[in-house]
Amino acid sequence: MTDTRTVTLIRGDGIGPEVTDAVLTVLDAARAPLVFEEVLVGRRAEQEEGDPLPARALASIQRNRVALKGPVGTPIGKGFQSVNVRLRQTLNLYANLRPVRNVPSIQSRFEGVDLVVVRENTEDLYSGLEHTVVPGVVESLKIITAAASTRIAKFAFDHARQNGRKRVTAVHKANIMKLSDGLFLECVRKVAADYPDIVSDDRIVDAACMDLVLRPERYDVLLLENLYGDIVSDLAAGLVGGLGVVPGANLGTEAAIFEAVHGTAPDIAGQNKANPTALLMSAILMLRHMGLPELADRIERAMLDTLRAGIKTPDVGGTAGTKEFADAIAGRVKS
Ligand code: NAD
Repeated sequence: MTDTRTVTLIRGDGIGPEVTDAVLTVLDAARAPLVFEEVLVGRRAEQEEGDPLPARALASIQRNRVALKGPVGTPIGKGFQSVNVRLRQTLNLYANLRPVRNVPSIQSRFEGVDLVVVRENTEDLYSGLEHTVVPGVVESLKIITAAASTRIAKFAFDHARQNGRKRVTAVHKANIMKLSDGLFLECVRKVAADYPDIVSDDRIVDAACMDLVLRPERYDVLLLENLYGDIVSDLAAGLVGGLGVVPGANLGTEAAIFEAVHGTAPDIAGQNKANPTALLMSAILMLRHMGLPELADRIERAMLDTLRAGIKTPDVGGTAGTKEFADAIAGRVKS
């Protein structure tokens, strides 16, 4: 018998609770050996506890080390820092992982896309170090360290090795930013030497973007600093139909948070129209991370079969509601 594991659950805002319920329906049908510890994060936490990311929620993630998270709204122009940025910084979630693959019955201009974007999550131009030098002149600091570059490179090569992938491509602009991107590239090359079974190459970011929209099927694992990673991971999602059909994970040494990369979609919240595919894919990634690959495969097969049968939500050309889509997957998981 498999031991039951506790996972922190954040339903989030907007469509978050609906897509989370859909995922729980499927996990329940699959008899996943998980117990969920629900914590409040986002708008309701802000209203009821005065902080969108209460200490209690952080403590739960630290204790359980694994969390499944729905999208959380970030108030624009208010005092609070983004919950997502706070989670990454506080829990040192240094690696952002986004697998991108064609999904049956989801329209895309490309076939054979099967790549993974690995993005460094803690430094680069996202360090938040900006200041006004004199009025009209602003300086924004790009921080690249050997420690963080080596750590993310090891993560990418380990991920490649553990998942049967053949090649890691570092994406950079070291021809212009010779010191910062040069250091990143130097660290990647040093790490690559320890993985002779994985092919290692690199591309300049602009050329890589053009190539990705011409021949995405040629790429395997992409390894990038924070800013390039942010941009290229959305570009890559667009290759297979958008943010609604790609999962995401933020991983660190102390915890791992699995979440859909789309937002709270306030325009369709509460209407049974939201597509839970991205969050379900993130839950599948979570099960693999937790050492439950067979369960993950079974749920993935049921999800893909459901999509192949043409059962899908309106955003991807279907007519099924969130609940009907989840029930159809749950039915296949059981059988
Ligand atoms: P969004 O992703 O919420 O919505 C963009 C468009 O995509 C909308 O038309 C929406 O209806 C549609 N959409 C998104 N997810 C969908 C789904 N699962 N099914 C069907 N349609 C879907 O982006 P936005 O409008 O820019 O952001 C809204 C809020 O979400 C903001 O407060 C933002 O800060 C927050 N946000 C949170 C996260 C997160 O927590 N990870 C990520 C991005 C945005």
